[in-house]
Parts: sequence; C-alpha cells; structure tokens
Amino acid sequence: MLEIPESKVTSGQLDSILKGKIITQVLVNNSPHKFAFYNGDPNEYASILMGKIITGANAAAGQIELHAEDSILLFSDGVNLRYYEPNVAPPEKHQLFLEFNDNSHLIVTIQMYGGIWAFIEGQNDNFYYLVTKQKPSPLSEEFDEKYFLSLFDSVKQTISVKAFLATEQRIPGLGNGVLQDILFDACIHPATRLQYLSINDKKKMFTSVKNKLIEMTEKGGRDTEKDLLGNWGGYQTNLSSRTFGSLCMICGGSIIRRAFLGGNVYFCPICQVEKK
Ligand SMILES: [Zn+2]
Repeated sequence: MLEIPESKVTSGQLDSILKGKIITQVLVNNSPHKFAFYNGDPNEYASILMGKIITGANAAAGQIELHAEDSILLFSDGVNLRYYEPNVAPPEKHQLFLEFNDNSHLIVTIQMYGGIWAFIEGQNDNFYYLVTKQKPSPLSEEFDEKYFLSLFDSVKQTISVKAFLATEQRIPGLGNGVLQDILFDACIHPATRLQYLSINDKKKMFTSVKNKLIEMTEKGGRDTEKDLLGNWGGYQTNLSSRTFGSLCMICGGSIIRRAFLGGNVYFCPICQVEKK
C-alpha cells in the first residue's frame, strides 16, 4: 500500500521519468476489478487525457497526483504503478494503461482495492482528497511538535494509539504499514489508550513519526513495497509481515502479531508494554 514514504518516492520518479511525454493511448478497466474505483464514466478518461503532455507529479499524503496540463490523474493507496521503458512489452492485465509518444508505458494495477480518478483540476470534491490537500504532511516543517500535540485536543481520550495515528484522516497517508515501526521506536503499544500516555510518550511519538517517515522516504520506501521501476524500497522494516517470526532487535523477545482495528499490528510486548 502506498503510504507517505512510498507516495513521495514514486511521485518523484513519475515526475522525473514522465515529464514531457505525450499521452497517446488510454485504456481503462481493461481487466475489470471489483474494487477498482473510478470517478464518473471511465470511458471518458481518454477524452480527459489523450494528447496531453505530462507536466509533473507530486505526493498528496498517501495519494499521488499525476498532472497532464489541466488534467489530474489521482491514485489512492492500494494501486501499483509501474513504468515500462520504450519497446518493453507491458503486461496485458491492468486497470489503467497509458501509452506515451516514445512507446513507453505507465501501467496501473489494483491490489485489494484502490482509486484511479481522472478529472480537470479543481473539479474533484472528494472528501479524502480535499482533506489530504489541507493537512500538513509529517515530512513538512509545518508538521511540528506543537501541531502534533494539538491533534490530541480534539479526540476522545479512550481511543487507542493506533486509532489516533492511523484513522479518521487525522494524519493522511499514515497507515497501518508505517505505524508499526513508528510505535516500536517510540516504545508505545498500539492498543494503549491515549488517556494513559504521558506528555513524554506523546513527544516521543512525535519524534518517531517525523524521524521514521523521513528515514523511510530517504531510503526509497519500505522493503515491503515496490517503486515505479519494480524495485523494493531500501528501508528495512523492523516490524512487518516480512520480519514476522524473527526476534525483537532490542530485547531478543518474540514479536507478537494481532488483528486490531482492521489489519494486523506487530509489537514487542517487552519493549512496548500496554499501559492500563
Ligand atoms: Zn523488545
């Protein structure tokens, strides 16, 4: 899944590789997928995009905007974006196929679910999209300790740390993937309720949110995700499906995996004691 680091990395690659190319073919929903979401009539995507020049790409939290003059293609988390060089045959199954004037391709496929939206700039009023654009990214200076601590003011103190960090679009793009190492580094259990956190815990959490997301981004995303060229990210996850079964790198204890709030959480019960 695209989260903040991968969106940043992949959008940077899209920007440098695709900028200046002209869209010469658009195929949408060629391999129908139950959980591929489109806006309006996907058959109209060609008329929105054909003949336009790619003018740039950027991350918007866990989403990616690809600009083609006055049009935007918006990709949500859950999409795979893959670039195929000129004259390299792209795969036949896809949910979006773009061909460019140099015979290179951008192929988009959906994992479990994902959104591929095409629209003219300014004409998308989707809630998640707009909220993503409004809130500061943890990678930005605007997302400072004061801002982070202020997020605690408007929530029930009985919710868990996981719910606080990774739901309700409080911090768009911070999802269940990056959450694991953020909390491991801060020595905080994902199920601990906010009311049991000390101010020191909250400050440690802030530092970890910033440092981990910056580190993951600088290393090309997590090693559980592939980039635009099909390469795994260079950030080695401490806690993920990839490392489950190995021992805690700090204390040598066993890592626990538990289904919690829609998705597995991983934690070390010794380093991350649940406060009650
Ligand atoms: Zn441990």
